[in-house]
Amino acid sequence: MRVVILGCGGFVGSHLLDNLLRDESYLIEGWDPEDRKIRQHLDNPRFTLHRSIANAPEALVEVERAIRECDVVVNLAAICNPADYNTRPLSVIRANLFEVYPIVELCAKYKRWLVSFSTSETYGRTIASYLPAGTYDDPELYELREDETPLIMGPIRNQRWTYACAKQMTERLIYAHHDEEGLPFTIIRPLNFFGPRMDYIPTRDGDGVPRVLACFMAALLSGEPMQLVDGGQARRTIVSIYEAVDAIRRVLERPETSQNQIFNIGNPNNEVTIAELADAMRRTYARITGDARYNDHPIVVTTADAFYGAGYEDCDRRMPDISKAERLLGWVPRMSLAEVLYGTMQSYHDTYTAPKAA
Ligand code: UDP
Repeated sequence: MRVVILGCGGFVGSHLLDNLLRDESYLIEGWDPEDRKIRQHLDNPRFTLHRSIANAPEALVEVERAIRECDVVVNLAAICNPADYNTRPLSVIRANLFEVYPIVELCAKYKRWLVSFSTSETYGRTIASYLPAGTYDDPELYELREDETPLIMGPIRNQRWTYACAKQMTERLIYAHHDEEGLPFTIIRPLNFFGPRMDYIPTRDGDGVPRVLACFMAALLSGEPMQLVDGGQARRTIVSIYEAVDAIRRVLERPETSQNQIFNIGNPNNEVTIAELADAMRRTYARITGDARYNDHPIVVTTADAFYGAGYEDCDRRMPDISKAERLLGWVPRMSLAEVLYGTMQSYHDTYTAPKAA
């Protein structure tokens, strides 16, 4: 299978390459300006890396050739860090909508199967979050179903929703191409994939505010307190990157059932509040290091304005219905939160506490 992967050098892309390149039947052509996470594959004759963003004008001729020649295009290129949504809204809208536009058009032109990485944020907030307390008792009001759940976002001034809105428009563009012109597509909505290489650690190998896993890891590594935005009451479900990549592979290997579908990929059994996640991570780190003092690592509460700046608004809860992935892909995530955290944090620990080479 000839696969084009746009944004192949990021967290998901690097794990997808690890998985697919173990199998001789995949021939992969990828685009990414960054190769830090995929150096292990650069010598593989079944993988070609173009070191640029795919939609750079000078890259588009080659991208068009690759799309014409391939069986499937996987688009992972995105800005997908919440700290950017309200602080760099123009970059977020450009990267997640306008820069994807030419790729969608090329897939439509050549009728190539487009596997598009979207986001659980296209659901926005749950119905329950707008109703009186207690309505979370009814799954009809919070469970996220690909083909039924309405997509509800906060007002324009809350620029947190630039990402969700851009991604949703991209989904609608793809769906419209499918509906009017027969573009084969699959949309994947990831729900909090966790694993090694997810994000940088601020001041060590990147700047700014990464996603919550790396924020909490950074706090544990530096001795600073973990910060709970608005008390850490938002809920997330956490799924292993290895199981998530297995789901993507099942999508690629079952076109007859996975095409023209939207899939939630997440693990409903691993739901935590962010406050619970902070506590679970400090306890896990105490086990990894053998240092019981981490069990009491300081945790402080902060506000969204102080942490992210004005215009942040949170997704209250992300509880996926994954019955479609189970039915059509035979995919059932099994790794517990404890297992996911242990493996992920061990890898971060090994990477960031290893003695520097001379
Ligand atoms: N969060 C937090 N402390 C941090 C970083 C994030 O409390 O140091 C919260 C954030 O407000 C959100 C959740 O953790 O409720 C998950 O944030 P993440 O950046 O991982 O992305 P999201 O799941 O919202 O896409």
